Amino acid sequence: MRRPLVLGNWKMNGTKASNAELIEGLKAAAVGVDSVTIGVCPPAVFIAQIQELAGDSNICIGAQDVSVQSSGAYTGEWSADMLTEFGVSYVLVGHSERRTYHNESDELIAKKFKATQDAGLVPVLCIGETLEEREAGKLESVITTQVNAVIDAYGIEAYKNAVIAYEPVWAIGTGVTATSEQAQEAHALIRKLLAEKDAEVAAGIQILYGGSMKPGNAAELMAMEDIDGGLVGGASLVAADFAGIFNAA
Ligand code: PGA
Repeated sequence: MRRPLVLGNWKMNGTKASNAELIEGLKAAAVGVDSVTIGVCPPAVFIAQIQELAGDSNICIGAQDVSVQSSGAYTGEWSADMLTEFGVSYVLVGHSERRTYHNESDELIAKKFKATQDAGLVPVLCIGETLEEREAGKLESVITTQVNAVIDAYGIEAYKNAVIAYEPVWAIGTGVTATSEQAQEAHALIRKLLAEKDAEVAAGIQILYGGSMKPGNAAELMAMEDIDGGLVGGASLVAADFAGIFNAA
């Protein structure tokens, strides 16, 4: 059985004061929740604050990005090793906003995935098609390319200690959620791609859905066979909404 995982992607939101309020609310809501892994991915500048606020609660910490380099003259970047010093467990790699606004390629994303794993952290590879790609019948080819980028570079073994988040770009921040059937279809496709290389890896990996997940649609999505949790943007900024989602997992 795969353990459900619900991660909040705060994107570029928060203040020290709002973070404190949100984490207090989440800690209270998460008391006694032991069948779901819960995590938040704050902006990097707040990670130290969140580590302190989360304390020894069951709220894990994720980062939204990482450098492929381990140290040196790379202004504006931070390494996976640095993240480990602040209690980080997960690192999002290849979020569609990084792909779009920072031109991140599948090759670069695969390197970030590897740098994360090499530091002992769990990469969360974000993949998904745009609306144009879906309408052009390219769902399968887009997902295959994005999943294979890691396999081509590092082998199927790389997916042993990793998470995949399927986030259709047309559903991110739009209020339009994929139907549970659409999401399940994509998740099953991802698992099948992995199973063709290694059935055990495919059966074990958590595949999260992301894209306008809310308390009202979370249960139905996460009840689908191949949906093991959520990567939640907007709704993760309100404690009651995020709690409604992790309680539905
Ligand atoms: P959303 O964002 O829940 O606001 O659609 C999800 C994401 O981008 O990870």
